[in-house]
Amino acid sequence: MRQLWVQLSLAFAGVVIISAILLSIVGDLGARAEAERFGDNLIFADNGIVTQLTTHFSNGGTSDGAVRLVRDEERDLRELPIRVSFQLLDDNNRVLTGNIPSRNNFRDVPFEQDGRTVATLRYEINRNDDPPPPRNNDNNNGTGNSNNPPPVQAQQPQSDADNSIAMIVIIGSLLGITGGIFMSRQLTKPLAQLAHTARQFGERDFSTRSSIAGTQEVREVAVAFNHMADAIQESETLRNNLIADTAHELRTPLSVMKGNLRAIIDDVYPLSKTEIMHLYEQTRHLSRLVNDLHELSLADARELTLHLAETDVVNLLNEVADIFAPVAEADNIQLKTDFRLPLPSLMLDAGRLRQVIHNLLVNALRYTPENGIVTLRVFQKDLSVSIEIEDTGAGISEEHLKHIFERLYRVDSARDRESGGTGLGLAIGKAIIESHTGRITVRSQVTAPSGTCFTINLPIS
Ligand code: ADP
Repeated sequence: MRQLWVQLSLAFAGVVIISAILLSIVGDLGARAEAERFGDNLIFADNGIVTQLTTHFSNGGTSDGAVRLVRDEERDLRELPIRVSFQLLDDNNRVLTGNIPSRNNFRDVPFEQDGRTVATLRYEINRNDDPPPPRNNDNNNGTGNSNNPPPVQAQQPQSDADNSIAMIVIIGSLLGITGGIFMSRQLTKPLAQLAHTARQFGERDFSTRSSIAGTQEVREVAVAFNHMADAIQESETLRNNLIADTAHELRTPLSVMKGNLRAIIDDVYPLSKTEIMHLYEQTRHLSRLVNDLHELSLADARELTLHLAETDVVNLLNEVADIFAPVAEADNIQLKTDFRLPLPSLMLDAGRLRQVIHNLLVNALRYTPENGIVTLRVFQKDLSVSIEIEDTGAGISEEHLKHIFERLYRVDSARDRESGGTGLGLAIGKAIIESHTGRITVRSQVTAPSGTCFTINLPIS
């Protein structure tokens, strides 16, 4: 009963049955009105009973003569497809002849002689399929005559038209109900399929997708479900890759340490400070990797705490530039600043922004050859402040550029790992900037003049 198709079928059946009932009521009323109109036309026609009685009484005719006229008329009307009942009442409303069904929809036609009502013709018109009148009708103003002759009745079989209407209503209802059940099944079939797909998906079959079928609403649900499935499958793949990549990243320094320690134990390497320094470097790399992963997991869970405060960005960039000046000088790289003032102060977490710019400058200096230039630029653009870190390094090719913000992604894994990178810096930077409702983008060129430029856009709140 709780199944949608059953409820829809019942609703369809209800509508069909109510329509059929209304149709038969309207048809019945119409047929009744039609029968009455037909009967009235006969009774009031030029040679009808009313004209005959009017002439009879205006010529001074007697009640007995009138009774004969009414009975003759009764006989004539028996062949009709309607049932006409007559009663003739005298001047005291006593029944002289006839009987009518006690339906209260009779009508009276009075007849006068010398300005006085001498008789009344009472008549009632019914359809042949109406219930017949009682055999003896005594409720005629208390003056009933139990020896009255039977009412005028046309002994016609039920009309063919009525039978046809009944057949049409029954066949129509059956067709309507069958069609309703069929439509309900058709409407709910795609929903059942969708539910089946959702169950399969819930059982971790991430490749399953719903077929797009049914009404527009159901199709929209199926499309939305498939989009959701795509997103879940993608994040599941990313998660699996991340676990595999993280395991790989952890394994590399651990194997180096394990190999070096084994070599020291086996006296292949001497237990010298230099060897211990190598091992120490690997532990530093490991703890940086673990810290970065932790930061990233916080960012993913939107739990990266931000200590927002009004910050003078120019001051902050000057500080960072001062820190990096000696590093750049040591590498024979020119570190330029290009600050286009005035700039509004921004509400941000200065420590986090410093961390992002720090990572970008480390990368820029790492990938820029000797005699190259690294420029730290800031300017206002519309309702945001843009910070650019541009270098004249070898640049990043198109195929790598689109993955550059992905976690653990490195253009040259072995070399970049060697130089101390974890492949997480840009992913963390992106998460930090986005948590400030900002954006970080990159453009790069590998052909001369090659170089890479990272741009951070921070909204002026
Ligand atoms: P890492 O800590 O390994 O540098 P990042 O996420 O900061 O990780 O950078 C990811 C990769 O992007 C780097 O390994 C490097 O291959 C590439 N990359 C980043 N910045 C630059 C740059 N300025 N020039 C060339 N390649 C870059």
